[in-house]
Amino acid sequence: MAVMKFGGTSVGTARAMQQAIAIVAEKRKSGVPLVVLSACSGITNKLIQIAEAAGAGRLEEALLKAAEVRKHHIDLVAELVSSQELRQELAGKIDVYVTHLEMLAKGIEIVGELTERSMDSFCSCGELLSTTVFAAAMKEQGHQCQWLDVRQVMITDDRFGFARPIEEICEANTAGIIRPLLDSGVIVVTQGYIGSNTAGKTTTLGRGGSDLSAALLGAWLHDDSIEIWTDVDGVMTCDPRMVPEARSIRVMTFSEAAELAYLGAKVLHPDTIAPAVKKNIPVYVLNSWHPDAKGTLITDDPELLSGMSYDGLVKSIAVKKGQAIVNVRSNRMFGRHGFMSELFDVFERFSVSVEMISTSEVSVSLTIEDSSASEPLIQALSALGEVEIEHNVATVSVVGDNLRLSKGVAGRIFSSLHNVNLRMISQGASEINVGFVVEEHDVTAAVSALHSEFFSGQEGSAIFEKPAGR
Ligand code: ADP
Ligand code: ASP
Ligand code: MG
Repeated sequence: MAVMKFGGTSVGTARAMQQAIAIVAEKRKSGVPLVVLSACSGITNKLIQIAEAAGAGRLEEALLKAAEVRKHHIDLVAELVSSQELRQELAGKIDVYVTHLEMLAKGIEIVGELTERSMDSFCSCGELLSTTVFAAAMKEQGHQCQWLDVRQVMITDDRFGFARPIEEICEANTAGIIRPLLDSGVIVVTQGYIGSNTAGKTTTLGRGGSDLSAALLGAWLHDDSIEIWTDVDGVMTCDPRMVPEARSIRVMTFSEAAELAYLGAKVLHPDTIAPAVKKNIPVYVLNSWHPDAKGTLITDDPELLSGMSYDGLVKSIAVKKGQAIVNVRSNRMFGRHGFMSELFDVFERFSVSVEMISTSEVSVSLTIEDSSASEPLIQALSALGEVEIEHNVATVSVVGDNLRLSKGVAGRIFSSLHNVNLRMISQGASEINVGFVVEEHDVTAAVSALHSEFFSGQEGSAIFEKPAGR
């Protein structure tokens, strides 16, 4: 059967939740799905603000925002649930979570320190709340379904804020807890994004992690498909918020989708693809507002891919904003060994991940997240050479399996960008992407130029579809 994951906007309002319930109910006609939900859109951000306000001693602000979280969910219940008794029961459940939030905020304000561990406790409330409301509404509408606290199943390591599952334990838990419910015909509704370490402390998988939860659970259940329901018609030729002409891509290979996600396409969490590849499960990215649109199928299965061959070069364009270029220049590099290892040792010590890199005889340029370009990091790098930082840049990457085989791509990319100031260029080692760095204010111009270079004239292609409703 399928695991169906609904993202924040797909469960953010009563209308969206109702739509998601209808999609699940339709699926139930052909089997019993596992439903994985995100927090309602905007709620995780608000929980982070509550935690930060408490950590900075602004308790009043934290409590006001907690009240907004309560109100959002109480309002959802009022719109979705008709039984007075059930409304009251849900108000009680919502209150338990929000009171927990308030207590956490008060505790953090007293201690004066916000740790990653407490941040995860704050953040977990969003998914716990959304699933509580959703499961109750679904049940009231006559569907056999059960809410499950995924922290009984998703047992992770201790990396708060970026936890990863201990797979053997999770797989056994999935077989022991979720499988029997599904086999008895009960739809299971549970949380994405959150888990628990072996000591029972709440963890999270990192922002956008519900996609990963769904893929993992789908793999542990040996499901037939992993469905990611979101607010756009699948994976598109670029972020449709940036280029309105973006098309939805009917099929992609696992490597294309993984590359695109790592390079910044927010529609999928970057780690979503690995569990699907491991068990060879197709991933569908679908629009909960247009459930009949075809969306995107991600697979390596030649049978599923048949009739969808594509001989164009580029499948999609990804953008990652909020980056910085770090340029380290040193004569010590010239003809000497060991410099790179010293350089990477600094990034390792500061736990900063390097995205793009390009080197010459006397200088190295790399990109990192702008927020991690801290003064201590720059000082440590200065011991190796002259350091220059360029803030507010973005990486733009074109991705496609066919880039591996084709000549002349770089030429087309760079001639289409003649009006844009390129700060750095890099061909990915995977050979299926070519990336470059531009100032953030040039991103839209760069992506629009690339989009028209590679996708205008593709309107007739079977693999690109005009999004529904456009
Ligand atoms: P969800 O809450 O459902 O997880 P996200 O906001 O995380 O949804 O991801 C969906 C968003 O990703 C879209 O609204 C879109 O703006 C953005 N996006 C970025 N790149 C792409 C792309 N290549 N294709 C589709 N959407 C993209
Ligand atoms: N609610 C979490 C977030 O906003 C996880 C998710 O939506 O995937 O990051
Ligand atoms: Mg997401």
